[in-house]
Amino acid sequence: MTGQWRRVVVKVGTSSLTDRVGRIYPPLLWALARGVQVLQQALGCKVVIVSSGAGAAGRERLGLSLPLTLPEKQAAAAVGQALLMLDWSRAFAPLPVAQLLLTAADIQQRERYVNAKNALEASLRLGAVPIINENDSVATGEIKFGDNDTLSAWAAYLVGAEALIILTDVDGLYDADPRTHPQARPIPLVQDLAAVSHLAGKAGTNRGTGGMVTKLQAAKIATEAGIEALIVGGGGAGLEALARGELRGTRIQAHPHTPARKAWLAQQPTRGVIAIDEGAARALRAGRSLLPKGIVGITGHFDFGDAVALTLDQQAIGRGLVNYDSEALQRIKGLHTSEIAARLGYKDYDEVIHRDNLVLKEAKHG
Ligand code: GLU
Repeated sequence: MTGQWRRVVVKVGTSSLTDRVGRIYPPLLWALARGVQVLQQALGCKVVIVSSGAGAAGRERLGLSLPLTLPEKQAAAAVGQALLMLDWSRAFAPLPVAQLLLTAADIQQRERYVNAKNALEASLRLGAVPIINENDSVATGEIKFGDNDTLSAWAAYLVGAEALIILTDVDGLYDADPRTHPQARPIPLVQDLAAVSHLAGKAGTNRGTGGMVTKLQAAKIATEAGIEALIVGGGGAGLEALARGELRGTRIQAHPHTPARKAWLAQQPTRGVIAIDEGAARALRAGRSLLPKGIVGITGHFDFGDAVALTLDQQAIGRGLVNYDSEALQRIKGLHTSEIAARLGYKDYDEVIHRDNLVLKEAKHG
């Protein structure tokens, strides 16, 4: 189960972080930070966290009582997010934490998707623990995910995770509600989500937004993209157990599918074509990024973040998301990376297409 994981998203809900009045309870975060690190060490994977808790912490700090107006909710999130990150930062110290606040538009729009992905990749590369939340102070209406279960599925998609772990206060799915049916039995493995959707019941607490319903919806998004989903109880201890191979919850099998980023990329319409030479094709197949040097021709008009097709000798060999628009690429094709800045007057990236944003037809690499 856990052997193949290179990247894992762990979703932590409000009820896993706060006490009864909605205040962040640091010992819970310490245990979670420890669980994350034990998991990373045991599996050799990187963990990205999706953390709720901002709204509840802000409400408590501002002394607001429900129901709130929309601007009050936005202010509560703004206040609470700062408190939340302060505690996460302390919990992970001496490791740095990276706060990433996303809206649905960051997933839906290509340029924003690539930007968000690049920020995440760089944070991971630099050794920070990315902690994502919805940008509740500005995300309203149609740019809102609405609940962090859904956000966590998209985050798993964004980082190309193999697994999404949704932490809850019950140990996964049961064949009846364990709070009212003491004989309820846990379900360790789900192969067909549709067959268990009737078990979701209602939301468990009123502090967060999600219940089992949104967890199963998130599991659907993830598993359809080839990411397995686990609904796990026990907070930090649940993660430590998982590191030992012990599942305190339910595992929902992924559809046999290509990895998440390939699935996403495969859906993108291509806006142009970049023809590359033999040397560049070899480098890409060896798992490297596309640099300007290997580019021999550009067709079409495309912008930063667009998907383009890659060809070698007029044969399509893959596709990727570009870090430069077509006009800039016409000017830097064939150049060494050290020459980009002089030619364009700026250089945001060495890579024209980063290998994380690239899929090749041959399934072996990419
Ligand atoms: N983003 C919200 C927060 O941090 C939580 C949403 C949810 O509970 O799903 O308070």
